[in-house]
This record gives sequence, structure tokens and C-alpha cells, in this order.
Amino acid sequence: MGEMKVNVKEDGEILYLTLEGAMDEFAVFANLDLGPFKKIEVDFGGVTSVNSIGIREWTSLLTTFSGGSRMTLLRCPRCIIDQINVLAGFVPPASVVESFYVPYFCEQCQSEQPILFRRGKQFHLGHGVTPGKIMFLHDVPCSLCDGVLQLDVIESKYFRFVLDPSLLGIS
Ligand SMILES: [Zn+2]
Repeated sequence: MGEMKVNVKEDGEILYLTLEGAMDEFAVFANLDLGPFKKIEVDFGGVTSVNSIGIREWTSLLTTFSGGSRMTLLRCPRCIIDQINVLAGFVPPASVVESFYVPYFCEQCQSEQPILFRRGKQFHLGHGVTPGKIMFLHDVPCSLCDGVLQLDVIESKYFRFVLDPSLLGIS
């Protein structure tokens, strides 16, 4: 179904990447070099799925990441959060997740409605041995019926990277 789109924008020492589509064998970060940038902001909001070859392409891009830089991750969908939670090195050291989608489900109309959690609002990242914090949203009304949305993930698994800062390489 075509290649993943990688939109690249440079602004001085900041690099903005916007990824869209499936992160798979067609995910080519070809000539990208993260080395020169102090800050790299990646918007994962349009990523629909991830497979092992896509992960390999991504981690090979990360080898160009230079030590003193900082990566921030925006609008991470479930497929990206699942990787962060299980794969050490999916993000460079001291990465900051600014926002990510949390799967919610309406039993009444059987619809999935991911909710965007933002850093400083619905969660705080921890550091060192201090775990992060999550402010769960309860009784969120369904946007399609008069039902109520329920959290559709296992908290200790899905929010692992928030609770255990070492997964983001934060020390
Ligand atoms: Zn509903």
C-alpha cells in the first residue's frame, strides 16, 4: 500500500519529522542524518502500523543521533507506544514523550476512540528512580452515543514507559 511518508523540515538546529503510514519495509529514511541537530521532534500521529523491518530502518536512523541532542515524540499511536514499552533503544537516551494516544472503547456502540494524553496535563514523566504519574480520565462521554468510554489497555503494561523512566533512557 505505498510507502510511509516522511516529511522533513529543518529550522536551524531543530529537525521536524512527520511520519505517515505503515512503518515497514517501505519505510525509508534514506539520506537523513540526525547528527547536526540539537533537537529532533518526531510526530508519529499518522503512523498506522509497525513491523520488524520498519523498526530496523528506524533504529538504523537513530545511529546518526548525536549524544547531546534531545528527541521529543508527539502524538504516538498505540503501535509506537507498544514498541517503546518492550524495546530498549527504540528511542534515543533522554527522550521526551510530549503526547500519546490512549485506547478507549465504548461498549455501547463498540467504537474505539483513542484519547490524546499530553505531558503536564494527563501525565508527567519520571526521572531516575522517581516514577512518572498518570492522571487517568474517567467517565469520558462517547462522541457517538450516550455511552461512556472505558480504558482499553492494561495500565501496568501500556503506561510502563511513564511509570519506569528508564524505558525512555531518562536517568
Ligand atoms: Zn458509544
